[in-house]
Amino acid sequence: MVEKKDDCIFCKIISGDIKSEFIYTDDEIVAFADIDPQAPVHVLIVPKMHIENLNKANNDILGKCLGVAVKLAGKQGISDQGYRTVINCNKFGGQAVSHLHIHLLGGRQKLWPPG
Ligand code: AMP
Ligand code: ZN
Repeated sequence: MVEKKDDCIFCKIISGDIKSEFIYTDDEIVAFADIDPQAPVHVLIVPKMHIENLNKANNDILGKCLGVAVKLAGKQGISDQGYRTVINCNKFGGQAVSHLHIHLLGGRQKLWPPG
């Protein structure tokens, strides 16, 4: 776990090297819209610290990120109809960006199993 990794796209977004609009920010976490949305609401909740994946995360930051996801679901007006939170981990989990993030997906009916 390091503060920032030079070749990490999410670290660049967090540091402002890549311009992005934050939906939420606090001392430890940012949230922004996914560039390739898979639902009407598709937000990424991302710890500012470069944590590679779920295997490397501690319960404190996980709890805080999930709390932000719940708060943003409320702000986006999708709490009651429902939503999905997803953390992809490593290759078989389908993780493309190696900086821990939670997907918040809502605004349409989701299917199960996800594939
Ligand atoms: P994952 O497959 O769980 O690692 O998800 C990575 C997500 O990051 C994908 O849904 C991408 O669409 C999204 N993504 C990649 N680059 C950017 C970017 N520059 N801004 C916002 N979202 C991005
Ligand atoms: Zn990073």
